[in-house]
Amino acid sequence: MPINPDFPKGYEVIGKHYNKDGEHFHFVWGPGRLADAAQNEECKKDYATRGENIEPVGVHGTMVAVDWDVCVADGACIEACPVQVYEWYRTSNDVPNNEAWKHPGGNGESVKEHRKDFTDKADPIREHDCIWCMACVSVCPPQAIKVDQSNLEYHEKAAGTYNEALAKSSQPPPHHH
Ligand code: SF4
Repeated sequence: MPINPDFPKGYEVIGKHYNKDGEHFHFVWGPGRLADAAQNEECKKDYATRGENIEPVGVHGTMVAVDWDVCVADGACIEACPVQVYEWYRTSNDVPNNEAWKHPGGNGESVKEHRKDFTDKADPIREHDCIWCMACVSVCPPQAIKVDQSNLEYHEKAAGTYNEALAKSSQPPPHHH
């Protein structure tokens, strides 16, 4: 199933993912739901190898929004983007999907075939560099991406209300091995 076209309505901010440049960030919206990644054979195999459950993780980014529950680590978006908005988040910090936002990214791989494995996700770590060309949206096989400049309104509203201390103190969900 594609990303909800009405995103980010119905979701709320569950994290703030910084770029290592110390300045830029994107929000993470949840709670998410099990979708394409939970049914994809390559994804299931690699999560099993790592001993990680496939859990709802939600959407990374607001104007460039990637539904990580839909993303199957194809990497077409990474290859298509003319301004390198995306990186493979696990090549920056190799942690479970739902902990990615707790570790600043920005130095990960931007080559399609350089994904760590099929538990990796395309992260719009340079969301602010987007030039709204829509190339990533049209090439994503499961339609995990929504690019909408007008979602800046949601980003700015969240930036005004986000409680960093509260979010940082929340414990990551338990992982069952
Ligand atoms: S819309 Fe274009 S510039 Fe923006 S993230 Fe997608 S491919 Fe990159």
